[in-house]
Amino acid sequence: MVKIYHDSDVDLGVLDNSKIAVIGYGAQGRAQALCLHDSGLDVVVGVRKGGPSWDKAQEDGLAVAEIPEAVKGADVVMVLVPDEVQPDLYVEQIQPNMKNGAALEFAHGFSIVYDLIKPPANVDVIMMAPKSPGDMERVAYLEGFGVPALVAVEQDASGNAKAIALALAKGIGSTRAGVFETAFEFECKSDLFGEQAVLCGGVTALIKAGFDTLREGGYPAEIAYFEVLHELKLIVDLIQDGGLMRMWQVVSNTAEYGGLTQRDKVITEESKKGMKEILANIESGKFMEEWRAEWRNGLHNLKAMELSEGEEEIEQVGEGIRSLFERR
Ligand code: NAP
Ligand code: MG
Repeated sequence: MVKIYHDSDVDLGVLDNSKIAVIGYGAQGRAQALCLHDSGLDVVVGVRKGGPSWDKAQEDGLAVAEIPEAVKGADVVMVLVPDEVQPDLYVEQIQPNMKNGAALEFAHGFSIVYDLIKPPANVDVIMMAPKSPGDMERVAYLEGFGVPALVAVEQDASGNAKAIALALAKGIGSTRAGVFETAFEFECKSDLFGEQAVLCGGVTALIKAGFDTLREGGYPAEIAYFEVLHELKLIVDLIQDGGLMRMWQVVSNTAEYGGLTQRDKVITEESKKGMKEILANIESGKFMEEWRAEWRNGLHNLKAMELSEGEEEIEQVGEGIRSLFERR
């Protein structure tokens, strides 16, 4: 059983008198820095001068410093720049300036699990990973709630590592929803698997295959778009609210019967084999090597794939349809 922490289990006071450097001010950095600041903690944002984040953080009313300066005085260093840039940034700007006994914090285990960052023995290495995009995290906090988060400890130099990770989670409101204790390895590998096999990769492949099947059968593009893409959110919202059973209860009996009897034609034993291969490549580090190489080569393949996805008919027709829903 995974241990779950709530508000009353966690003491924000462990961060009293702590300086928290939030390195990076993007999706996670901005949301987390603002929430921690609003929770009364001492936050400084570390970003490069001249980049878009610098002005944004200042406009938001936060203390801003260059990365080495922000790291120097910090008791907690939150590494919230993209995973690809973390290893070099760590070696060049973070590690040389980190104070003895500081806590090094991540929102995803990638750099640590694949040994791309090797912290010294005298720092805590912790994770606080909100299970949400940054903007939704901020909205939930402002509504007086929070999004669920995972915490983990990879290295406990101070003896206080878990308490710090939990306090950070409380600071962004996550203990109101629930904070789950895990390990770097589990978080990292299951997160990669989820986004590849089901969430980002799996679901887009499913949508595209459904769209193509209807188009090849002679159905109009607009109708196909509604059936396989637009309505997906309605179904997923039901599943998120009340699990698979809630969805089955709400849809028509025809949809329930058809769905339950026909779905194995789509996701087959072959598909499951593919999923196992995805997981194996994540576990062995093969995917990590491939992604690091792509990044080092300037992301040429990624950009080409993105371009060709954007040119697909489902995207073209979707743009027109979505513009109808914009509230004027
Ligand atoms: P992001 O939005 O892409 O980060 C952008 C920030 O990183 C900007 O402030 C940018 O500064 C800075 N940055 C980029 N390259 C830099 C470089 N070479 N040197 C210095 N600063 C640089 O990142 P993110 O999506 O929030 O991800 C941060 C971490 O959170 C990752 O570990 C990720 O896996 C994890 N995570 C993300 C999400 C999510 O919602 N996206 C969810 C859970 C966990 P400039 O403005 O100067 O370019
Ligand atoms: Mg994820």
